[in-house]
Amino acid sequence: MRAEIISIGDEMTSGQRLDTNSQWLSQKLSDLGVQTLFHTTVGDDLPSNVDVLRIAAKRANIVICSGGLGPTADDLTRDALSQAFDRPLELRHDALEHIESLFAARKRAMPERNRIQAMFPMASKIIPNPHGTAPGIDLAVNTFRQDGSIQSCRFFALPGVPAEMKQMWTETVQKRLQSEMGIGQQQWFYFELKVFGIGESDCEALLPDLIKRDRIPRVGITVHQATITLRIAVLAKDESEARVMAEPTKQEIHKALGELVFGADHHELHHVIHDKLVAAGQSLGVIEFGDAAVVAPWLASLSDPDSARYGMTASKWYRCDPVMSLSGIQSTEQQNDNRLQKATDFRNQFETDWCLMIGPYPSPQAIGTMNGLPTFRFSITIVAPNGTIRSNTIEMGGHPDIILARLGKTGLDHLLKQIKAYQAQG
Ligand code: ATP
Ligand code: MG
Repeated sequence: MRAEIISIGDEMTSGQRLDTNSQWLSQKLSDLGVQTLFHTTVGDDLPSNVDVLRIAAKRANIVICSGGLGPTADDLTRDALSQAFDRPLELRHDALEHIESLFAARKRAMPERNRIQAMFPMASKIIPNPHGTAPGIDLAVNTFRQDGSIQSCRFFALPGVPAEMKQMWTETVQKRLQSEMGIGQQQWFYFELKVFGIGESDCEALLPDLIKRDRIPRVGITVHQATITLRIAVLAKDESEARVMAEPTKQEIHKALGELVFGADHHELHHVIHDKLVAAGQSLGVIEFGDAAVVAPWLASLSDPDSARYGMTASKWYRCDPVMSLSGIQSTEQQNDNRLQKATDFRNQFETDWCLMIGPYPSPQAIGTMNGLPTFRFSITIVAPNGTIRSNTIEMGGHPDIILARLGKTGLDHLLKQIKAYQAQG
């Protein structure tokens, strides 16, 4: 089953409003195991709507449209369906009665133009709209493929108002897909592996056969703020079957990428560190210096809901000072001793098991005024619970939009590796 979602309205094509209906509908179709291959957005123009509907009928089996069912002259969906598939509009008395009753309940006379909302393309079914005047249209059409075979496609046209669209999906469309089209026996499950410390194309090069489009399960690769997400998509009847189906692919990824994989699902580096420290009953103090605070907000975000999960407040585990000016510390090798001493002093002051000191961060202005991909020198100093100190000075570049996140995550990545090594020693 291939689905297409068509979102209709000038407010979307002109950029005034974001098409959130398509995102929602795609998620719902995915829950039923139906893959959406196209999102089409079209303005309020009849010939364009007719074209879009005809194209969809040839390439999808399920088409969900939203918008353009209102009573005004710019609402064209019913006319477009009628013209596209040669189905004259006919008055449906049951729909008319519903619209009249809605106006009566609001103690208003029904304007004549609302009558149009009771007009339906021949041989279509009504999708009731309990709270609005625009009933939806459910229309099955057959078209001929180029080779002469028949392609069946079912259209569900819903109003644009998100609340009405959602209610009609849940109460009618989803049920018809399940009972009349046998959909929903399987659904899509997604498993994510998180990777840090490598670029997207290098990552793909290490996984040569996994990113192929026709592979089952399919593996997708995306990057956000220097973290790579590998997403395994599995069509299965329940979660435990999906886990079994995804497992060999997960193992292949772990084998190919080794330590570059730091976590799974929605976990970022700071979540993984948090979990390891909580499990070991250890605490962490973080000191960031320079012109930004990158890691502190991530750690602060853990206070809720993660620490609730462990029944303790985050402040007990972390002391995250935002920007501190450390006049004595420069990221030069000569001052290395000073840096080590400072990190130890901070750990004592924090009274924590671990201390991560990272900086100097460049200011957003400094990043913004550099051409190309700026590079910066910064240091990462880590004090372990037994007092061992490690310090590295690193030079690192990246796109201005992500360079700060990359510096902060590099600090966390070093910390995570040291926590793992320390815990492995027992
Ligand atoms: P109505 O009976 O309200 O006229 P309609 O089917 O004609 O219903 P539209 O006029 O196209 O729907 O849209 C109604 C409202 O829903 C508008 O506020 C519009 O911005 C919003 N809307 C329409 N389509 C979408 C969409 N794809 N995503 C989010 N909001 C949408
Ligand atoms: Mg409208």
